[in-house]
Amino acid sequence: MMSRIALFPGSFDPFTKGHADVVHRGSKIFDQVIVSVGHNAQKKRFFPVEVMVEKISEAFAGQDNVKVVAYEELTAELAKKLKAKFLLRGLRNTTDFEYENTIAQVNRHIFDDLETVFLITSPKYAYINSTIVREIYRFGQNVDEFLPYNL
Ligand code: ADP
Repeated sequence: MMSRIALFPGSFDPFTKGHADVVHRGSKIFDQVIVSVGHNAQKKRFFPVEVMVEKISEAFAGQDNVKVVAYEELTAELAKKLKAKFLLRGLRNTTDFEYENTIAQVNRHIFDDLETVFLITSPKYAYINSTIVREIYRFGQNVDEFLPYNL
C-alpha cells in the first residue's frame, strides 16, 4: 500500500507550539509528516533555516513518522519530489483563510494531485504567531513558553 505522506511547509521563523500542534495532529492522520522549512519571498528571515531544521528535529526526536527538511524550490515541486500528495497547513482566522485559499489553488494548479488539508488551530495556541514571538525575542524577552524546544 502507498503510504500517505503530508508535507507541512512554512517559514517557521520561528517554529512555535502552534506549528507543533499541527504536526502532532497531522501525524495521527497521515503515515508520515515532513516539515519543510523554506524561504518566503515576502519575508526576510530572522532565524536561519538550518537552525530551525535542527530545533524542529530536536522537538520531534523519537517520533519516527515526522521528518524535517530545508527547501528552496517551489512547495509543489518539493511535494512531488518527496511523493507527498498532501499539503498540511494550519488555520487560525479569516486572515489565514484568505492567504491559504490562494496558495492552495495555486499549488493544485501546479500539481493537480496535490490536496491541501487544513487543521483548525487548537484554541490554546490560536494567539501564537511567529512574528510576535520574533519581536519579543529580539527585545531580549524569554520566549520559551511559545516554543516546543529551547533556543
Ligand atoms: P508561511 O510563511 O508559509 O505562511 P508560517 O511559518 O507563518 O509560514 O506558517 C506555517 C503554517 O502554520 C501556516 O499554515 C499558518 O497558518 C500555520 N500556523 C501558524 N501559527 C499557527 C498556530 N498558532 N496554530 C495553527 N496554525 C498555525
